Amino acid sequence: MNSYDLIVVGGGPGGSAAAKEAADSGLKVIVFERGRFCGEKNSSGFGLSPKAARDFDYIRELDVPSLWPTKFGMMHIVEPQPSNADRMTWGLTPPRRSSYPQASEYMVQMMYRAEFDQWMMEKATSAGAELKLTTLITNVLRDGEQVVGVIDNEGNQYQAPVVIAADGAHSLVAQKAGLRNKWDKDQVTVLATVDFEADSERIAEYCGDTNVHIFMGPDRGGYVCVFRNGFHVGSRPAKTLLSEIDAGRNLSTTSITDNTRLDFVQRLIKATRAEPREFQLHFLPWLKRFNERIYTGGLMLTGDAAGVPEPFMAEGVWQAMYSSRLAAQVALRAHKDKDFSKAYLSQYMEELKMSPVGVDFMAGTELRDFFSEWTSQTFYDLFDNLADAMFYGMLTMAEPHAQGMLRVPAILVDMIPQLLFLTRYYFPIAEEASREKITNFLAGMKMMAPILKSMMPPAAGGK
Ligand SMILES: Cc1cc2nc3c(=O)[nH]c(=O)nc-3n(C[C@H](O)[C@H](O)[C@H](O)COP(=O)(O)OP(=O)(O)OC[C@H]3O[C@@H](n4cnc5c(N)ncnc54)[C@H](O)[C@@H]3O)c2cc1C
Repeated sequence: MNSYDLIVVGGGPGGSAAAKEAADSGLKVIVFERGRFCGEKNSSGFGLSPKAARDFDYIRELDVPSLWPTKFGMMHIVEPQPSNADRMTWGLTPPRRSSYPQASEYMVQMMYRAEFDQWMMEKATSAGAELKLTTLITNVLRDGEQVVGVIDNEGNQYQAPVVIAADGAHSLVAQKAGLRNKWDKDQVTVLATVDFEADSERIAEYCGDTNVHIFMGPDRGGYVCVFRNGFHVGSRPAKTLLSEIDAGRNLSTTSITDNTRLDFVQRLIKATRAEPREFQLHFLPWLKRFNERIYTGGLMLTGDAAGVPEPFMAEGVWQAMYSSRLAAQVALRAHKDKDFSKAYLSQYMEELKMSPVGVDFMAGTELRDFFSEWTSQTFYDLFDNLADAMFYGMLTMAEPHAQGMLRVPAILVDMIPQLLFLTRYYFPIAEEASREKITNFLAGMKMMAPILKSMMPPAAGGK
């Protein structure tokens, strides 16, 4: 039997972050990846949040050929079907106000997943982790209730007192360990992407600094991520795909083919002479509430396997890295304390819940519902009115300006239902966030109370 201090299942960003952390601290680590190389299952690219460079020193050294920080993005409000035209378009640079430097430098770091996943795994293997490719883990080894290792598709057994399952959305390990069956329909979304190959010189010339487009309109939405030699068009992360199938709705209204027909996408395809490369459908966990069933004796789930993509836009790479590093830190403590029990590993769940990953699930239900409303008629009407306030009211060349200005208040009155609609979502979200702040403030005051009390002068006549 092969024995290790830590077994990691899955060579995605989660698995590598766990393996690097544990190997850096001297644990004997093995990572199992079913692909022929890390990132093989991802045909295209993604945007890495600036949170990754904030929280992981080594991400600041990130250097892969496709790396392209997003310094300019385009937002398109698309007219209702059957039009393919933009009603309103605007360009965005990173925010001026931000809580850390990287967030003002770029919105995301765009790159190909295969390059990123291999770069991450190289960090883990150079720290000493062993990598076993083309190996599918099919079951867990148990000693009573305790997970004590894994079994691969050829029946080989590998032993370790602690296993980190970073094996993605479907997580066979989570299912075999009895932590869950398949996700409920309400806990998962489906994302369709069509990836194009394009001439890199034409991309540079046509796109300039713009490497992301986000679009929304009534009953439609999605994005385009542009890379150095290609781009992909994505569907919106929708509660829709599964629920629409259930409701028997016509998927063509939101489908990827409709997205590729949009005027600005067609212009991009033609200008860069792009050719379709691959079409993919991906499952992605999209939970409203923080999932607490992410550990048992000898096992912790991380990343997509744990359902940690955030509830608004379903961003998941930083979440996978953060949760996995935390799990590796708990595994290290478990080794020091020689305790791998379910009770001990509950620390992982508790700490993750209190971390920025868990805090993102505050108001998760409202956030996810709000995101779905982005593709509603009401949301579109808000921008439609805004565009008229600008170009029928203020910037009009069609009529005298003073007359145009007089129209603005009436347009703003038309916007009242849309603004009320926004507040219907905003206030419950803000209420949840401030409740947390108030609770933290009160908890802080409670901790400070003995100190403040000791600083107070004794009452007159007191001892
Ligand atoms: C279309 C799409 C676009 C996205 N865009 C973004 C984005 O722009 N930014 C962002 O932050 N997030 C994005 N996400 C989410 C992000 O991709 C995931 O949240 C992230 O990949 C999770 O990382 P992970 O390591 O947990 O799992 P994964 O990346 O899924 O890695 C799991 C690994 O485990 C391997 N594996 C699985 N089962 C086994 C097994 N039994 N044995 C051995 N190996 C196994 C797989 O081959 C895989 O390499 C997107 C998701 C989709 C679907």
